[in-house]
Amino acid sequence: MNNTATWWNRITERLGVKLPVPVYEAWIKNLSPFCVQDDVFLIEAKNKSHQKIVNGKYLTDIIKAAKEVRCPYGSFTVITPDERSLYKAEDEINNEYDGGSGSGTAVADNCTFNKAYTFDSFVVGGCNQYAAAAAKAVAENPGGAYNPLFIYGGVGLGKTHIMHAIGSYIKANNPSFKVHYVTSESFTNELIYALMNNGTRSDLMQKFNEKYRNLDVLLIDDVQFLAGKASTQESLFHIFNELYNNNKQIILSSDRNLADTSDIEERLISRFNWGLVADIQPPNLETRIAILQKKAYEHKFNLDISVIEYIAEKNSTNIRMLESMLQNVVFYIQLNNGSTDKGSQLALAKEALRDCRTDDNDKVTMDSIISAVCKYYEVSTENILGKQRLKEYVTPRQVAMYLICDMLPFIPLSAIGKKFSGRDHATVIHARDKIAEMYNTNETIKKSVVDISNSILKK
Ligand code: ADP
Ligand code: MG
Repeated sequence: MNNTATWWNRITERLGVKLPVPVYEAWIKNLSPFCVQDDVFLIEAKNKSHQKIVNGKYLTDIIKAAKEVRCPYGSFTVITPDERSLYKAEDEINNEYDGGSGSGTAVADNCTFNKAYTFDSFVVGGCNQYAAAAAKAVAENPGGAYNPLFIYGGVGLGKTHIMHAIGSYIKANNPSFKVHYVTSESFTNELIYALMNNGTRSDLMQKFNEKYRNLDVLLIDDVQFLAGKASTQESLFHIFNELYNNNKQIILSSDRNLADTSDIEERLISRFNWGLVADIQPPNLETRIAILQKKAYEHKFNLDISVIEYIAEKNSTNIRMLESMLQNVVFYIQLNNGSTDKGSQLALAKEALRDCRTDDNDKVTMDSIISAVCKYYEVSTENILGKQRLKEYVTPRQVAMYLICDMLPFIPLSAIGKKFSGRDHATVIHARDKIAEMYNTNETIKKSVVDISNSILKK
């Protein structure tokens, strides 16, 4: 079974427990997983009205359930069968290498960019000014002064958007260029696929290398996923060198800065640092309002400014969350006959977001995680943060560090270490990796981690 199907099974299992049986039977059971694209989990509804109901009523439950089962994808889009062709199915992605005629030519550059992610649709504010300017400079002069470009910032802050914008800008201005966008996960999967089938299809590895080494522009999203994947890093290292030496542009993104990137070979990290490093910070209120206004306008949603402000003030700094709140509100207003009156729009918006726990991310803090761990293990905050190396403190301490890394990936490891009596980031990495491993091998730890994270998310 593929990855998407496995996650969808876990999510629906969870929903089956949480939702009333008739609701589950009518609306959830007949949804099917389609694929993951740009980190968005696409699920397919039977038809337009099914899609509308799920979007309007059950999307938040799905997102919540996904979080609870620790699904790596937090963003969902419900599509209809008609919309399939707009997206690429997972099978097709895996089969990219098998499609060729076997003539030995490099795989065609059939990568497409999300049309919605352009520079024009990217709202620039103080939080992303520098990254946006750097991206534009690279797009205008690929392989020029800023090579590689490394963009980092928290989840949902626009890294993927900027990368697609760069890619399609370059492609539009240089139609002959081979421009390829890939997530680190797909890159890894492609490599594994080629390696695994090397015995029967020895041309696969050659095609992989030809494909990547002949590019003019390579965009690799979410490089933090390469952590611990030695052979993928090795392969990327050689590709990087080849492209770099030929003045080909490389653009990378990550949800953490280079200093906090662990388990990636030093020689790669130092190369990522050779060019320009640009960060994206969470947007402030004005920028959030501007982004929501732009999204509403793009979708032709006729929303009163008071509604936009209400959503922006929900204080979620994850723009993906803001967008999904916006969509929830719009569906809710549409379900209620599409009122355009200011007062009733605002009332409907409040109602639509009443149960919407989209500001969950903001509620989870280092302190809330630490206090949940303390409560679970019945140890004091002082002891969990302290220096004593007694066994009854060490495990809770490591679990707390693991959960902080996991639930708040944008917090620098050094800041986590500091919180725990000024420990260094290597200690945090050790704790994180140790619990991550135990999670897979030790039922007690697994249960503790699941129970604690549930208790944090339920707050
Ligand atoms: P990341 O890759 O950093 O997790 P994404 O690029 O996927 O985040 O952005 C999440 C959503 O927020 C996307 O729909 C994107 O279009 C939108 N978004 C993020 N930043 C901006 C911005 N500055 N202006 C407009 N939309 C934005
Ligand atoms: Mg992304």
